Amino acid sequence: MKTGLENKVVLITGGASGIGLASARALLEEGCRIVLADLRPDAALAELGALRSQDVHAVTGDISVPDEARRAVRETVERFGSLDVLVTSAGVYETTGVEMSDEEWERTLAINVSGTFMCARAAIAEMARHGWGRVITLSSMAAHTGGGAAGPAYVTSKSAILGLTKSLAKHAGPHGVTVNAILPGFIETPMTDKIAAGDQEAIRAMTPLRRNGTAEDIAAVVVMLASEGARFITGAQINVNGGLVMD
Ligand code: NAP
Repeated sequence: MKTGLENKVVLITGGASGIGLASARALLEEGCRIVLADLRPDAALAELGALRSQDVHAVTGDISVPDEARRAVRETVERFGSLDVLVTSAGVYETTGVEMSDEEWERTLAINVSGTFMCARAAIAEMARHGWGRVITLSSMAAHTGGGAAGPAYVTSKSAILGLTKSLAKHAGPHGVTVNAILPGFIETPMTDKIAAGDQEAIRAMTPLRRNGTAEDIAAVVVMLASEGARFITGAQINVNGGLVMD
């Protein structure tokens, strides 16, 4: 079956790095028009723009700020006339334990949870106007395991994404919009670069598929969930972890 994604307009928060950037490349290849919303999107914009400059746009901003989340959606519609798919990949990883500062706690939840909600709320309102849409959120395997190195703020934020995804799926379903969460396992990106090589090797050894994930492994599932073939999947949680955690 064809993906049916040609000419769809996609907004990707955190689209300048890791999973977001790999998703942008994969969706551009499917014929989508792409908007990257990130803190520093210039290098990614230049890379994708070299492939098809007329189909790529970037919004520089902090999606944890309500007005900037709304602006990302508004600029997408202004630039390409619509918004069909939202991928909420912007996020921060936090390893500090319960001794973390109040500011660290609040910042992690503001970016990972509130930023996701505010972008999704504005996007669903736009998608509902034309009765079709896809929202794809990024949770984590840590929501199931309680986290390895990840601290309580990160684990809480990624667990909250699961509840948010189900609630948004109920709200958006009658408008023809699906909302699903991907739960990546260990994926090699700039976010996980700092994890010690020995720990990365230990995860690889415990993983049934005997390798760590790549951003392209997640991007392939983003394309699948955005595609026409995923039209009856909503409120779902998709593990993409090489079998490290099964449930
Ligand atoms: P990444 O390479 O660090 O990409 C995240 C992007 O989000 C970066 O470009 C970052 O910008 C941007 N960002 C951070 N805060 C932002 C804000 N307030 N507003 C706008 N953009 C912001 O990370 P990744 O590994 O691709 O992770 C993507 C998502 O997958 C995250 O939600 C993460 O929690 C989730 N995830 C990743 C893994 C993994 O193993 N990699 C596993 C489970 C879940 P800067 O770099 O400039 O800060």
